[in-house]
Amino acid sequence: MSDHKGIEEFKTILKFAASEEKISQTYNVPPNMLIPLFLSIKYGGDWSIKDEENFSVAVKDRETVYNSETKEGISCETIYLLVNPRIVEKEGRVHRIEKCGSSAERKLVQRSYNVKAVFDKGLIAKIDPEKKTIKIGKLNEEKIEFKGSMAFSLEHEIEHVSSEAEAAGKPIWDFNYIFEEE
Ligand SMILES: [Zn+2]
Repeated sequence: MSDHKGIEEFKTILKFAASEEKISQTYNVPPNMLIPLFLSIKYGGDWSIKDEENFSVAVKDRETVYNSETKEGISCETIYLLVNPRIVEKEGRVHRIEKCGSSAERKLVQRSYNVKAVFDKGLIAKIDPEKKTIKIGKLNEEKIEFKGSMAFSLEHEIEHVSSEAEAAGKPIWDFNYIFEEE
């Protein structure tokens, strides 16, 4: 039996997997610590992992560039992979409702608006859906600053892998509906 299409697809998948292994060697990041990056590339969203020695988080940003004359656009994605990130400075308190993969319903939490984090190793992946490229680079500084949604994401993911307890969020049914008067 021969399934040419299946074989070609399998070759493509193998090539993709080999590139993933190359990232580990090129940037000297333990393969386990790259898992959040690969999950974010494959499934979207933010991820975190920890083993006996290290932990890592991947947080994703997305920016759409649209040309109103040609009516063409691209949503470029930037994923930051940080190994052993620790928040060293934070500012602000934002009340927000967050959804996490590990629970069914959203929760009310409080997050910082600005965070500065230090880390042991950092990679940046830029996904271009037009060119179909994933450009990988190294973060040269060992400190990073995030604002707004990226700051919320980083705090959320670090919480999953840190030894501290996760923020006890209030469930959505704690909210009150208000009826506008006629
Ligand atoms: Zn989560």
